[in-house]
Amino acid sequence: MYPDRVVSGMRPTGALHLGHYHGALKNWVRLQSELPCLFFVADWHALTTHYDDPSVIETSVWDMLIDWLAAGVDPSQATLFIQSKVPEHAELHLLLSMATPLGWLERVPTYKDQQEKLADRDLATYGFLGYPLLQAADVLIYRASQVPVGDDQVPHIEMMREIARRFNHLYGKEKGFEEKAQEAVKKLGSKRAKLYNELRTQFQQQGSENALEQAKAMLDDAQNLSMIDRERLFGFLEGSRKLILSEPQALLTEASRLPGLDGQKMSKSYGNAIALREDKDVVSKKVRTMPTDPARVRRTDPGDPDKCPVWQFHVVYSDDATREWAAKGCRSAGIGCLECKQPVIDAIIREQEPMHERAQQYLDDPSLVRAIVADGCDHARKLAQDTMRDVREAMGLGYS
Ligand code: SF4
Repeated sequence: MYPDRVVSGMRPTGALHLGHYHGALKNWVRLQSELPCLFFVADWHALTTHYDDPSVIETSVWDMLIDWLAAGVDPSQATLFIQSKVPEHAELHLLLSMATPLGWLERVPTYKDQQEKLADRDLATYGFLGYPLLQAADVLIYRASQVPVGDDQVPHIEMMREIARRFNHLYGKEKGFEEKAQEAVKKLGSKRAKLYNELRTQFQQQGSENALEQAKAMLDDAQNLSMIDRERLFGFLEGSRKLILSEPQALLTEASRLPGLDGQKMSKSYGNAIALREDKDVVSKKVRTMPTDPARVRRTDPGDPDKCPVWQFHVVYSDDATREWAAKGCRSAGIGCLECKQPVIDAIIREQEPMHERAQQYLDDPSLVRAIVADGCDHARKLAQDTMRDVREAMGLGYS
């Protein structure tokens, strides 16, 4: 198998807010120390919905990168790059489009859903229909093993897996594959080669998934194999094809969801967001004017935290003791709403302090961000070119 790698992107369509931080960025910061990660600014994706007003993309790209760095994404651990600076994504998208059935794209649940949600935009476009295929290219081009997603994105990962399987099936046939695979089996050493052949037979004749898993684990452990031989043997296990593109797994993240100030989804366009690098006074003002349980008309009226958006903020920001204090005080009218909001305000400001500090150096010297991204683009491009060499060759385009 190809090395473990995580790929994730974000569309530059406006300033990032605390919903992005708790929903995705915090998870990126955790992942970057566990696995090699590639994080990209999905500017082409932004064009699929904002093709008629690209100015927002241009202004958001660099701000968003500063937001990532402010949130703790570390360029010495993760690769940060801009999608359109690695044109191989577009080439793979085009090549994959040749063999992707239209129905696969039309049945992606978010396609109709998004068209309905963004009814004010004309999204009956070729680019918007192809959006999940471009996503597939973004991931498959790095042979990523894992993609962090929420539940609603799982069908996209399933489609990426189907696209990789179809590609390998159509184009993974290599001249003399059987002979080359047999040679690679010999390189395992006689004991392992015997076991490999037995497990392969068990899988191919009896469909034993257990045998397949055992054989894959053995190949993962076989240090003396070259990458290409290993891929041949993975392919040989299941059939007679080389695995050119690898199937990614969905990495389901249990991110805490922070709603907007009004309890709806946090979004800049709904006017209910707190920006990632919001000014302290603005944070305080926004939280202090948040709506609360409508039953608490007077200070002496008891309330119900479950009917109050401020409570959702306590769930994300407060410790058990503070939550208990807030819930009890709300139900007994022992505390007022402004009192209840203060620990939330303090926690948000505390959380944002290091973000402001980290961002400052990049605001003072924007060339630092440019340099980080230039390095990231170079690195990403090398990885993408490795895959594209194999893809072109497999599709009969390897001539020079
Ligand atoms: S006391 Fe707190 S939880 Fe209760 S309604 Fe007021 S702000 Fe909401």
